[in-house]
Amino acid sequence: MSRPRLVLFDVDGTLLSSGRKGLDSFSEALRRTFGTEGDVASYRFEGRLDPVIVFELMRDAGIPDDVIVERRPAALSLYLDLLEEALSAHPPALKPGVADLVARVSASPSVVPALLTGNVQRGARIKLTAAGLWNHFHFGVFGDEAPRRVDLGPIALARALERTGRPFSPSETVVVGDARADVECGRAIGARVVAVATGRTSVEELRAAGADVVLSSFADVESACEAILA
Ligand SMILES: [Mg+2]
Repeated sequence: MSRPRLVLFDVDGTLLSSGRKGLDSFSEALRRTFGTEGDVASYRFEGRLDPVIVFELMRDAGIPDDVIVERRPAALSLYLDLLEEALSAHPPALKPGVADLVARVSASPSVVPALLTGNVQRGARIKLTAAGLWNHFHFGVFGDEAPRRVDLGPIALARALERTGRPFSPSETVVVGDARADVECGRAIGARVVAVATGRTSVEELRAAGADVVLSSFADVESACEAILA
């Protein structure tokens, strides 16, 4: 009998990539809502929360804070409509090994697979449904639930208790992600962090950020499973 584990997966760069479709939908929603997409070309999206991304891009583009706050729900809603349409025709590409890895992790009776992501809930659902993975996760904590990613960790622990009736200790909790922000978020709750360099952050950077294990990808599913459930 394996030990109980709460496994908190990031989405973009870790499980899948929505690539151009995701970025185009986001940019178009900003243009239509605010008249500008801001400097999306040089903005570093990884590890950030979607509502915060809208705020930072638009503030840098000179949009007043009160206008951003007022129009942000409409911008996000339009982004999600455009994303859903785009991904229904072109599903996101799963990262190597991910389909097998998620199936194996979620088949383990003592393991609770869940999401901890900067996507708003509907965004995560659209991406993971299009990729065929949504039903594997017991619950999620999303980018519209706190102002900072690091605040999502405690929410995840509380939700795990609420949903399973069982508290998960830090040593029973694993954060899996591809960005420095994932590592910081995991460390802040004392969880183990398994980082994967399939996003935009290198193995070296993830190691320097303090991840317990860094993998170049999940292509070797056996090793990835071992690292996560160790
Ligand atoms: Mg990510």
